Amino acid sequence: THFGFREVPAAEKQKLVGQVFSSVARRYDLMNDLMSLGIHRVWKRYFVATAQVKRGDRVLDLAGGTGDIALLLHERVGRDGSIVLGDINGDMLRVGRDRLTDLGRVAGLEYVQCNAEALPFPDHSFDLVTIAFGLRNVTDKDAALREMHRVLKVGGQARVLEFSEVKADWFKPLYDFHSFQVLPRLGRLFADDEDSYRYLAESIRKHPPQDELKAMMEAAGFARCGYRNLSAGIVAIHTGYKV
Ligand code: SAM
Repeated sequence: THFGFREVPAAEKQKLVGQVFSSVARRYDLMNDLMSLGIHRVWKRYFVATAQVKRGDRVLDLAGGTGDIALLLHERVGRDGSIVLGDINGDMLRVGRDRLTDLGRVAGLEYVQCNAEALPFPDHSFDLVTIAFGLRNVTDKDAALREMHRVLKVGGQARVLEFSEVKADWFKPLYDFHSFQVLPRLGRLFADDEDSYRYLAESIRKHPPQDELKAMMEAAGFARCGYRNLSAGIVAIHTGYKV
């Protein structure tokens, strides 16, 4: 087994993902800052700033968790727009809702507990669907991509922000050291939870790299698919349109 990966059956995986996020929900934001030295904020800002969001848009942020993306989107859709924050995990959703509410963000925000693989929305509901650091955790990614396509309006865009394959050779050893030595230790020190952060590093390595995810989006029905690497491919932004 490469880096100690083991194949986990789908049903068990879904349950494990649930446990991971329930156990990290409270410390989630602090851990993101520690693990990425705060850079995840820059990636998220760039992801939303380049999304061509218009005032009045209706946007679905899937796997929205503690609401970072929803907050950035909410600033851009204005009073006539709305954001639906969807997440499978009730604990993450609650932390997100409390956080946005405490920031005074109430109107134009809805929270829906849902699985990205089977969305409870009619066809042609959204101008934009985003999923940031979420697709990696979804068991049936093809189903999730098809659902994202289904709920988009014609002309609408899907955007995926996710860890990807590092393209700079010199950086790979450092990145591996960070993933497999530093992350589990940070998890133990700050969240008393080494296993969840070991899971994180492994799930990143198993996620389809840039061109494979692009092909999956095409297979799900998206047109004009493309991607852009950020930070040498530590993360990538994939886009596709419904035409
Ligand atoms: N988008 C947020 C961000 O960037 O900070 C949260 C990302 S967090 C790493 C991943 C989220 O995906 C968790 O909140 C988890 O509950 C959610 N998730 C995992 N599997 C899911 C699924 N099948 N459907 C919807 N959400 C899911």
